[in-house]
Parts: sequence; C-alpha cells; structure tokens
Amino acid sequence: MEKLNFKKDKYRKVRGGYSRFLEISCHHCNKKTLIYQKDGPGELKRMYLDRIVLPQNIAQTQKLSIEKVPNLVCTKCKYILAIPYVYPKEKRNAYRLFVGAVNKKVTTIKHL
Ligand SMILES: [Zn+2]
Repeated sequence: MEKLNFKKDKYRKVRGGYSRFLEISCHHCNKKTLIYQKDGPGELKRMYLDRIVLPQNIAQTQKLSIEKVPNLVCTKCKYILAIPYVYPKEKRNAYRLFVGAVNKKVTTIKHL
C-alpha cells in the first residue's frame, strides 16, 4: 500500500488549502468506483477530472476534451452515476453527479 499525495495548485488554494481523499462507490450496488481528491468544504456535487486519482483509466480522462469523456458508469450494475460537463466558473472539466448516485467515505490509501 502506497500513500497518496494531494495535488496542490490554485484550485486547492482557493478552496482553503486543505483536501481529503474520498472513496466513491455506487449507491445502487456499492461497487467501488474511484478515489477522488476533494478540496475544501462543502457537499460533493461534481468531481473535477483532474482530481480523480484512481483508477488510471478514469483519471486519464482529464487529458481528453470534454466531448470525448464518457459518462461515469458503474462497472458492475451499469447505472449512470455522473455525466461530463465543463464547470463554467473555472472552465474545468468535471463530472456532474446525479443526486444520490454515489456513496462517499474518507480514505487515506490506495485500495481500489
Ligand atoms: Zn453499481
């Protein structure tokens, strides 16, 4: 098991300079979906693609233009958890989560 390091940049700074890792899982079947770096306080309404840590195949979507990013679909039950869009305020690629689609819990280590 390897410790993850937080990404530290201007986005983290404007959110108060602190972060935690969240383990995101499907609300419907509880399958682990990804590990996400959440910066600052507040509800998780969207997930910025540049903050998705694992798995690699989802983390790599941050390099794609938004129209090439696929929906976030549960690999087990195929439920659509989130859809890609550009967060207008920061022009930052993100997944907009459907309300109640995922469970979140704070995590510290790589274990997807
Ligand atoms: Zn599922």
